[in-house]
Amino acid sequence: MEEIYLDYAATTPLDPRVAEKMFPYFSEVFGNPNSPHRWGRRAVSAVDDARDQIASLLGAASKEIYFTSGGTESDNWAIRGAAHALAKKGKHVVVGATEHHAVLAAAQLLEKEGFSVSLAETDEYGTVTEDRLAAAMRKDTVLVGVMTANNEVGTLQPLPQLSKTARENGALFFTDAVQAAGILPLNVNDPAVDLLSLSSHKFYGPKGVGVLYVRSGVGIDGLIVGGRQERGLRGGTLNVPAIVGMAEALRLAYEEITTRRAHLTSLRDRFIGKVLQEIPGALLNGHPKDRLPGNANFTFEGVLGEELLIALDLAGVAASGGAACSSGSLEPSHVLLAMGRTEAQARGGVRFSFGKDTTAEQIDRAVQILKSCVERLHLPR
Ligand code: PLP
Repeated sequence: MEEIYLDYAATTPLDPRVAEKMFPYFSEVFGNPNSPHRWGRRAVSAVDDARDQIASLLGAASKEIYFTSGGTESDNWAIRGAAHALAKKGKHVVVGATEHHAVLAAAQLLEKEGFSVSLAETDEYGTVTEDRLAAAMRKDTVLVGVMTANNEVGTLQPLPQLSKTARENGALFFTDAVQAAGILPLNVNDPAVDLLSLSSHKFYGPKGVGVLYVRSGVGIDGLIVGGRQERGLRGGTLNVPAIVGMAEALRLAYEEITTRRAHLTSLRDRFIGKVLQEIPGALLNGHPKDRLPGNANFTFEGVLGEELLIALDLAGVAASGGAACSSGSLEPSHVLLAMGRTEAQARGGVRFSFGKDTTAEQIDRAVQILKSCVERLHLPR
């Protein structure tokens, strides 16, 4: 059976060029970057180079780059670390209603810690418009978090307007750029953001490593205490091979961004066009144009998302659902609900995401498999 992986938004394979770059740092250059001897110096020099490289790609200064264990930690740190550092100024935080759970759960924790949190609503496409953000803000808002691109439906947020609204009202602006990194040419000054998170395994780098960008002058409390690593803000020995790999993966992504983007856009448009044309009852979720190049998300009327995912998996196609399984019951996707979909529709969302090595033939084949699964699973009316 032919296997077709269409879940690149969940994770990407390690690029062999990245693996090669990482290899010496597992055993040859194995020193602890905090050690004062030459082994340590060799390791710290690799970390410094990686930090410089990532900073220069993002238009940042090296001292503004902090290494973390991935997107979840970066998001947690941005939300909780910044809010706590600003608690004397104000205790109100705004996050988008369709943020990743790494942001939403961190914001819920803040509520337990005495902060108040408002959700910025979205329109039917999942866009947080400028006026919706302004409506959620208050005089004591100290932090706004809206993601660059949504992980379920791919909708791109109007960051320049959102960041301007937040910052002109005296709040910091944080963006979770985990899904956009490696596909869109991110730059922390265009539009200007105060905090930004990245996760290496979304752009063909290793898993378990990420970045939090913190603009110089922005105070942030540390969450992980221990050693004095990361300028005293994040304890723990750095994962040197992973950091080296992440920098190389980001470098390659920027180098190849134009071709990767064009390829993904053409695959996405081919997939969406064929599905809408060939599968009755297919409903596209997310913005029709302003969406990630590699993302397509559909609800198929009368078909349960969970069953469709199982049927696709049995047929060799990997896709993903937005609905989360909590304590044995399938919760509807909070993203689709925020966009005004019904509960049934929000349980049915299926995400297909494409990668740099996905082919047009795979897209065509996947549409045919999807079509036959949908026909088979369609509930009798
Ligand atoms: N933020 C977004 C938008 C994501 O898509 C993900 C992962 O799916 C994360 C955060 C969490 O990243 P990580 O898997 O590195 O913890």
